[in-house]
Amino acid sequence: MSQLNSRQQEAVSYTQGPLLVLAGAGSGKTSVITRKIAWLIQHQQISARHIAAVTFTNKAAREMKERVSALVPRSETRGLIVSTFHNLGLRILKQEQAASGLRRGFSILDQTDSRELLKELLHRGDSERDIEATDFIHARISKWKNELVLPEQALSTAANDDELRAAVAYGQYNRMLRACNAVDFDDLIMLPVTLFREQPRIMEKWRNRIRYLLVDEYQDTNSAQYELVRQLVEPLGRFTVVGDDDQSIYAWRGARPENLAQLQTDWPNLNVVKLEQNYRSTGRILKAANAVISNNPHVFEKTLWSDYGYGDPIRVVAMRDEDAETDWIAGDLFHQRLQRGLKWKDFAILYRGNFQSRLMETKLQSLQIPYKVSGGKSFFSRAEIKDLMCYFRLLVNPDDDNAFLRIINTPRREIGPATLEKLAGWAARRDQGMYHVCDDFALSEIMPAKSAEKLREFKQWLDAKRELCFRDNSTRAIRELISDMDYEGWLHQQSSSPRIGEKRVENIWTLVASIQRMLDKDEDGDADLETVIAKLVLIDMLEQQDDEDDTDRVQLMTLHAAKGLEYPHVYMMGVEEELLPHRTSIEEDTIVEERRLMYVGITRAKRNLTMSYAMTRRQFGEKVDTVPSRFIEELPQEDLEFIGEGVKIDPERADEMAEASIAGLRALLE
Ligand code: ATP
Ligand code: MG
Repeated sequence: MSQLNSRQQEAVSYTQGPLLVLAGAGSGKTSVITRKIAWLIQHQQISARHIAAVTFTNKAAREMKERVSALVPRSETRGLIVSTFHNLGLRILKQEQAASGLRRGFSILDQTDSRELLKELLHRGDSERDIEATDFIHARISKWKNELVLPEQALSTAANDDELRAAVAYGQYNRMLRACNAVDFDDLIMLPVTLFREQPRIMEKWRNRIRYLLVDEYQDTNSAQYELVRQLVEPLGRFTVVGDDDQSIYAWRGARPENLAQLQTDWPNLNVVKLEQNYRSTGRILKAANAVISNNPHVFEKTLWSDYGYGDPIRVVAMRDEDAETDWIAGDLFHQRLQRGLKWKDFAILYRGNFQSRLMETKLQSLQIPYKVSGGKSFFSRAEIKDLMCYFRLLVNPDDDNAFLRIINTPRREIGPATLEKLAGWAARRDQGMYHVCDDFALSEIMPAKSAEKLREFKQWLDAKRELCFRDNSTRAIRELISDMDYEGWLHQQSSSPRIGEKRVENIWTLVASIQRMLDKDEDGDADLETVIAKLVLIDMLEQQDDEDDTDRVQLMTLHAAKGLEYPHVYMMGVEEELLPHRTSIEEDTIVEERRLMYVGITRAKRNLTMSYAMTRRQFGEKVDTVPSRFIEELPQEDLEFIGEGVKIDPERADEMAEASIAGLRALLE
């Protein structure tokens, strides 16, 4: 406690009623949560198994766990729930499976899978028009779920033909999910909420289980999450939520920063604690952050100050094109590290869109700078991993038609589309999953005997693996599965070069090894292969902001993924109109949200902040002139140091300089 300031202490020790900690970036909100967990256990004698803390990303949840274990001995944290919202939902659904209308081993569809399912339902293909139509309906359904709107309600409130079509699809889509014994990402919140509504006794049980609830990044909760929190904490209001309305950056996913204000209405006895001292950044960085965000309208007034000194100016770097921009960053980073004696992991490079990382990566590679990209092409989105995951999904849930369709011909089994169509028709008539009916004897009457035989063989083979998987509870079944179908051979055959083939084979064994690790670790005491696989499917979906190892590497990530994190030296690249603020937000006039993203980016920096932009950028193969972001103009100009084109270096010369510095650095390396 003595390490905290008096307001933080108040927030930690206040347990008489509901509490909201409303404060700007770096003021110790997350710290309050972790300290409070320790306080509740050690000073309020609330057993850890009655405490739950939730946040939004796996990475944040993991960090929170680590911070708690530094404060409380392991023996006292048994049963403590520190997880993401979605993991908490999954936990509830798993325990209340039957009541939620799910069967054992239900599967969780990620965004790609659920979109594929919808695409099939809508009979849409891959033309631009079809993609647009599918995406519209996909997003609409997700929004409904986040607002807890059921298909029937969607139907009755549809405002136009488009919405009506989406509402019809929503009903079909949900029926299909249930038929396949599957849930999608949004269901992980919506289903527990509806379950609690329908069966108050089950809700009571969970209220009794979670007697104190803490929520980080509260400004990003959507309606469904708000409701879940409300259900869990009523009527006593034993909760602490912390948030910053200026860091709400998930409106596009249904987040409602108004939920912060709503709390005051819903809980008249709500205690609000504001924190004002920032323990992260220098004065200049804070001044810049405050200046930018002051251009947004505000519900809550906040002030933020720091006594970490005024610090260095904020560098604004203008380069001729994206090549020069990324070269400059790589070179500067290398230089700064040497000069200041820093570690690679002291640096983060942030950008608006995942695609921006590619070029940066090549530049870092050319200087042999170790780096780690969080998000982007995640491990789990690689084809070989997706395939294997579908096998796993089918192992734990034989009704998963999506998974079945993905792997029935991977590797090739010569089961043609005509056969599959007949199989699907038959399965639908029997009201069963496609995999389930693969060994129906009647199949040979509706398709060539040879095809029916292939399907039967496939099912018998995989059934045997399932049996082994449940009996043996090790990765043996998985290893056999891979070798039986000569999956390695197939991967090599499918790859354009032996090196790529090797890499893909390596990836699948990495997956197997991590399953083995999860089995060995047995953290929650319920690690059977089935649970581990279900967990993996979920991690897969949350992988976006995931980052397991903390080896010494430069961190690359999107601004969204950077929320809650901090780094001594931060580069924000591509600070240009159309990138930040993003083009769609300019068109849709949602600049305020982009400004919050800018605010999040700036406030990640502890010591040094550098922003860069390219004056031209290639778009569809053509060089296009760009305009520096309007947010740069909103920064306090007296605190900026302009570098590059901004100080009138001849573009040719700038390139030469960049090249020379890189050559020099390379020489240094060798
Ligand atoms: P964000 O809004 O970005 O999520 P936050 O409000 O959650 O930030 P924290 O991450 O909890 O802030 O804290 C920011 C930094 O300040 C951390 O490095 C933390 O260890 C440090 N810190 C918090 N409180 C104190 C304190 N009283 N004394 C010294 N350092 C502190
Ligand atoms: Mg935080």
